[in-house]
Amino acid sequence: MAAGPGRSCAPLSRLHGGGVFSCVLLGHRELPGGLAAGLAALLACAPPASGPAPTLTAPLAAVESAFALARDARDRYDVAVASGRANGDAARRANDRRSRLVEALGHVDSSSLAGEDARALSVMRLALARDLTPIVAGATSEPATDATPSRCPPDASGELDSLRARIYACYGRAQSHLPVGSDTLDRLTIFGLLGATDDSARRRQLFLALRPVWQSMDGGGSAASPYRRLIALTTRAQPGDSSASTQAQAAGVPPDSLEPWLLRVLAAWRDGTPDTLIEPWDWFYRNGRASRTLSPYISLARLTALDDSVFGSLGAGLRALRVHFDLEPREGKDPVAFTTFGARSPVIEPWIFATYRTGGLDNLNELLHETGHAVHLAAIRTRPAFRDWPDSDPFTEAVADVVALDVYEPAWQQRWLGDSVPLADGLRGRYGGIVLDMAWALFERRMLRQPSADPNQIWTELTRDYLRIRPHPELSWWAMRGQLVDAPGYMMNYAVGALLIAAIRERIVEQHGRFATGDSTWYAWVAPRLYRFGLERRTRDVVEEFLGGPVSPAAILKDLGRR
Ligand SMILES: [Zn+2]
Repeated sequence: MAAGPGRSCAPLSRLHGGGVFSCVLLGHRELPGGLAAGLAALLACAPPASGPAPTLTAPLAAVESAFALARDARDRYDVAVASGRANGDAARRANDRRSRLVEALGHVDSSSLAGEDARALSVMRLALARDLTPIVAGATSEPATDATPSRCPPDASGELDSLRARIYACYGRAQSHLPVGSDTLDRLTIFGLLGATDDSARRRQLFLALRPVWQSMDGGGSAASPYRRLIALTTRAQPGDSSASTQAQAAGVPPDSLEPWLLRVLAAWRDGTPDTLIEPWDWFYRNGRASRTLSPYISLARLTALDDSVFGSLGAGLRALRVHFDLEPREGKDPVAFTTFGARSPVIEPWIFATYRTGGLDNLNELLHETGHAVHLAAIRTRPAFRDWPDSDPFTEAVADVVALDVYEPAWQQRWLGDSVPLADGLRGRYGGIVLDMAWALFERRMLRQPSADPNQIWTELTRDYLRIRPHPELSWWAMRGQLVDAPGYMMNYAVGALLIAAIRERIVEQHGRFATGDSTWYAWVAPRLYRFGLERRTRDVVEEFLGGPVSPAAILKDLGRR
C-alpha cells in the first residue's frame, strides 16, 4: 500500500452495503508494539483541554517549524508515489527536511519542557520514528509484502506470528483468485454481485465460490484448523480481548458495556426483520434494494459532480478546501480507496485516492466517505506537532460517515437523485453491513473467551438468533474478514464506530438542525466542534464534549427503530 500512515480507509459499503470502514491501516498496524503502545499512551495522556488551539511556543518554535516542513515534504513525496509520479527530487527534499528535523531535535533540552510542550515533543519524536523514516533510493513507501505461503490452506503448526503470517498470505491469495464457472473473480466483486444478482441459484453459486477463502482460515474446519490454533495461541499470549476493549474505551465505550450494547442493537435489527430465516447468499441481496434501485441514476460522470454538490450544499466547497482527487484506473494503483495529507504546511491539502470504472450508489457512498475524511483534514487547526489525525480509530471513521450515510435517507435520495426507496429499504442498506460487522466483533470476542469452541457453531448461533440467517454449520462462512487473522480486536472498531456515527449524527440534528438536503452553515458549525483538533485532544474528550455526555447506544437504537 502506497501512502503509509495518515491514510484512512474505504467504507464497508464497498463490501456489502453498510456504513463504517473496511480496511486495516498498514501504517499503524505494522508498528512495532512499543511504538503503537507509545502513541496510545501519548493520546491517552492528552489533557482534556478546551479553548483556542495552542500557538507555537518559544521552547519548541524552531523544532516545530522544522517538523512542519519535514511533514509537508514527506506528504508531497507520499502523494507523488501514490499518484505514480514519484521522482528523486521529492525524495531528496523529504530526506533533507528530515535531516534538518533530526538536527533541530538534537538541540532540544527535553528536561526543560512540561505539559503540552512535553507531549508535543514526544509526538514529534514518535512521528519521526514512525512516519518520517528515511527514503531509500529505488524503494517506495510500500510496506514489506507478506510471506508467500508454502501451502494453502496453511498447516496449523508454528508459533503465533509465523502462523498468522501464513494464514494471512494464503487468505490474500485465495480472496483474489476465486473461480466461478469459467471466470476468476475476487472477493469484493463477489460481494457486489451477491447484492445485485436477481437469480437466487446464481447467488448460491457465487457465495459457495468463496469456499477457498474460508478454507484459508479454517482449513477443513476441524479442531486442528489454522484459525482455531491461532485463537488458542493468541489467548495464551494475551488473555482476554484487551485490544478491542482498549479501542472501545478510547472512544468512550465502557468495556463492560460493549457486548450488551451490541446485542441490543442486533436485537433491534431482528425485531425489524420478518420472522423467517433467509439463506446466507440471499442476505446481501435482501439488503441491497436501495443500491439496485438508485444506482442507475448515478453514472460514472455524475459520481464526482454529486460528491462536489453534496459537500458544496453543506458549506464545504471542495475546491476552496484544496481537496485533490485521483480517481482514474491506473496500472499498479493501490486497489483500496483512501484519503491522506498531500501537504501540511502552510496549509493542509487533502488527497483522495480511489478507482472508479462505474458509478452507482455504493461507489458514491464510498466517495462521500473519503470526502468526509478530506473535509475533516482540511479543518484541522492546531500547532504543527498535533497537525495529524488519530487515523484508523473509530472516531475518525465515524466522522467520515456523517454525510455519507445520508445516501440511505429518502429525503436525501429525492433531493439528489429525484427518486427514493422506502425508509425500510434505506435502513437495511445503512445497517445490513453494520450488524454483520457487529456479529463478527461478537464472534471474535467469544472465540477469544472460549478458544476451544467450534467457530462454525458460534457463528451459526449469532447469525441465526439475531440476523435470521439459516444455519449452515457445515460452512465456515465467518472466515472471510482478513482482520480476524491480521488484526485481532479490529472488528470491534467497526462496531464501536457505528455507535459513534449514530450518536454524532443525532447530536448535529439536535443542536444545529437537519442537513440531509443541504445546509450552507453546516461545515462552519461542525468543523470547530469535531474536526479541528488533530492530536491536540483525546478522542474521548472530543466525543463526550460534543455529545454533551458519554456515548450510549440510544441513538443507533432509535435510528434502527424508525418505521
Ligand atoms: Zn475511512
